[in-house]
Order: sequence, then C-alpha cells, then structure tokens
Amino acid sequence: MATPWEDVLRDRAALREAAAVAVDAALLEGVLMRTEGEPNASDVVSYAPFTLLPSAVPSALFEQAYAVQQDFNLLVDAISQNKEFLEQTLASTIKVDDFTARLFRIYVQVLEEGLAQSVFLGINRSDYMFDCGADGTPALKQIEINTIAASFGGLTSRTPAVHGRVLRVLGKSKEASRLLPNNPSRGLALGIAKAWELYGSPSAVVMLLVEEEQRNIFDQRYVENELWNRNIRVIRRRFRDVFEKGSLDEARRLFMDGQEVAVVYYREGYVPKNYDQQNWEARLLLERSRAVKCPDIATQLAGTKKVQQELSRPGTLESLLPGCAEAVTRIRATFAGLYSLDVGEEGDKITAMAIADPDRFVLKPQREGGGNNLYGEELKQVLEKIRDSPERTSYILMDKIKPQPARNYLLRAHRPLQVSECISELGIFGVYVRHGKEMVMNKAAGHLLRTKAIEHADGGVAAGVAVLDTPYLV
Ligand code: ADP
Ligand code: MG
Repeated sequence: MATPWEDVLRDRAALREAAAVAVDAALLEGVLMRTEGEPNASDVVSYAPFTLLPSAVPSALFEQAYAVQQDFNLLVDAISQNKEFLEQTLASTIKVDDFTARLFRIYVQVLEEGLAQSVFLGINRSDYMFDCGADGTPALKQIEINTIAASFGGLTSRTPAVHGRVLRVLGKSKEASRLLPNNPSRGLALGIAKAWELYGSPSAVVMLLVEEEQRNIFDQRYVENELWNRNIRVIRRRFRDVFEKGSLDEARRLFMDGQEVAVVYYREGYVPKNYDQQNWEARLLLERSRAVKCPDIATQLAGTKKVQQELSRPGTLESLLPGCAEAVTRIRATFAGLYSLDVGEEGDKITAMAIADPDRFVLKPQREGGGNNLYGEELKQVLEKIRDSPERTSYILMDKIKPQPARNYLLRAHRPLQVSECISELGIFGVYVRHGKEMVMNKAAGHLLRTKAIEHADGGVAAGVAVLDTPYLV
C-alpha cells in the first residue's frame, strides 16, 4: 500500500514535533510495556513501540478478513475435536519435533482418561498480509492462525487515540476522525466471562497462566480489568506456581491456593523454552482438570504450522466442515501456497523446487513467537543439508507473500527518528465458546495491525521487530 501521507512525510520539522506528541500520547493512553531491564516491575515503564503514522489498509480486504473470522473459529474448533485428523496430520511431525510430540502425548493421555472439561473457549488471531499481485492488486493472504496466547488485543485498543492525536497535530483532523475504534480486549473478556458463567461456580476464579518475564503485562491487564468490572475474580500464576500449589479434587476440579479455577487463560506455554520437567507436569495437571482451558491442548495443536499446511490440500476443508461450502470458499480464498516436506516423492519434488528458487518461499518449523522462519540463502542451505533426512518433516514450506512497502517512522525508546520502508500484517481476533456440542458464542472481536521495516523478514512485536499500528482504510 502506498502511503496516504506523502505531503506530511516531506516536512521533517513537523514530523519531529508530532513524534514527541505521539510518544507522550502513547504513555497517556496506556500503550505501555515494562522495560527489558525490569520485566517484572512496574516502577518504571515505557511505551510499546508503534508507528508514527497509521498505515493504509484496503477496506475491501479489511472487510474480507472480518467476514472469514467466524469460519476460522468453526474450523479451529472442528479440528480440535477431530482426533483422527490431528493424529494423521501430526504423525510425521511428532517423529522429529520433540515439542509437538510432548504436546501430543498430553493430548492423547487426556483423551484416554476422558475429558473432564465440558465448556470450551477459543481465543485466536488470524494474521494476514496484503500480497501484491502482478497487476498491482493486493490480495488478502493468511500468514498463520494463532490459537494460543494471541497478544496485543489490549494495547491495540489505545492506538487509534494515539494516531488520531498525531494526525490532528499534523493538520489531518478529517482523516483522524476516520480511524476506527477497536477493542479486542473487551471481546476476549466477554468470551472468558461466558465460559466462566457456564462453568457454573460463582466463587471460582479466572487464572491467567503467565510467563516468568512479564514485559507485556499491561496488554493482559486490559483483559483482566474487563473481567474485574464484571465482578469476576482474576489471579495470575506461572507454571511453577501450578506445580507447587495446584491440585485436583476427585471431580477433577482445579484448585490454586485453595481457590477453585473456572478458566485457565494461557499467555504462556507455546514455545519449548516455556517448559522444564515441572512445567510439563503442571501443564498435564491443568489439561486433566475440569477447568476451561483457553486453549485446551487439542486447540493448541490445531494451530500448528503442520496443520495449516494440511488444510490447504484439496478436500481437507470440505471434510472438516461438511455442509459449509461457503465457509470453505471464504477460508480457501485466504490461503497462500503451502507445501508438505514429508518423506516421499511429493516432498522430494517440493524440496528441489525450493532449493532452485529460494526467494519464492518461506521455510517454517513448528515454532511460535517470531524469528524462527528461514528465507533466501539460509533456506537453501538448510534444505540442502536436510534434504535426505527425516528432519525435513519438522518444517513446512510456504509461498512468500510480497506486500507493497510504504514509508513510515517506527517509534521505539532510545532510537533516532528515521524513516523506514515498511510492510504491515493485519490480525483479526476470534472468540468462541462451545458448551458440550453447542456453539454458544462465535465472534470476531477486533483487529491488530503490526508494521515492520522490510529489512526484517521475520518477527513480531514481542520479538522486537514489528511495532503497533492502526489501520487507515483506503
Ligand atoms: P510465528 O508463529 O513465529 O509468528 P509466522 O508464521 O507468523 O510465525 O511468521 C513470523 C513472521 O514471518 C510473520 O509475522 C511475517 O512477518 C513473516 N512471514 C511468515 N510467513 C510469511 C510468508 N509466507 N510470506 C512473507 N512473510 C512471512
Ligand atoms: Mg505469527
């Protein structure tokens, strides 16, 4: 997307002044993060990095992303209940990827014991880029769907106010009034509140399962506050606390420090480094419990890159969502090319194709959180090394999406003000609640726009690459 702010970008002095206003507005509005030096104290905090100017987003693609979100909610929920599909899809992956294998073992163990949980809560975020076609027309293409710990639904609710202020300072008050309000944290909290209510124990609490290092606590506080405002008690605990103090009673109700837990909302637990042996045991305890896990282990597995790749095979969506032809069409329209590297003829051909033309693809392991994918020369070298090894199957291959860059300024603490060529990634938050077999809530809860300089192939906000942004619909 070309920038809608050509005239503004020419006036360096005005931009400098606007940047100072922007940073103070971010602090005033609560676009906050703890510092790297003190990730577990709020005595001194800073602003979460963000763009000086809102970025252009084509309104048709924005609407398309919202329109397909309920379909994605249904799809993720269907996969989470389909043991055969998860087993078949992940069979080759769990042979070589230890982390996925451990998650899968817990999944099987919990199913064998029989599920104690009857209320299911999904909070996901489907991420997209605007792929620029040969004729210059942008198309909505999914990067991935995050089914665990999808973040920034809180902080992003405050960026329209910040960008509105910046545009006004720059003499663009008409444009400022066009920025859309957005509050994913409220929608997330409504889903959590519904699950809590269906759990049916008014004195039970919602537990956020949080990381050892909690720099992004303010993002989570937005959700917590919405719950407190509805008179739902919230506690924050780490895996370590669960290991030490968590217990199940004979009905597999979960207790923490003597309090019954109705909902466990994971903001942790999605990468190998989150787990030591004790944390794995804590995870198993939580999964065995009657508490509503957001997500349960099956839904976390539904969000793996391997599942994403399998969904793109002809016929797969149809078999997962029978009788939902329109939903299938809407979902499929967002898929980029995805390829399996499983051992066999098909995988051999794909590997050779990627080695011959590495700039066309992205190589993805089964990891989350940014900074794990391989591109270009590195992709080629790694594939050449593992082309004849089963290790190949721990990756999937994806067509590289190529958005049109636009100029913007990325505001970060202690960094000089400097223009960058940028691309953006749009995420839509989805929330759903299922009670037994019945879907009782299925919604799109808001959006997140993240923007990064084009020299970084990979990485999100938490990884220090992308920054928060606000869409300016064009
Ligand atoms: P993670 O789980 O680590 O967030 P993603 O699949 O979202 O993994 O990839 C991380 C980042 O890499 C994305 O935010 C995006 O910037 C970039 N990326 C991923 N897939 C593609 C792709 N197919 N084309 C271009 N960039 C991509
Ligand atoms: Mg991602």
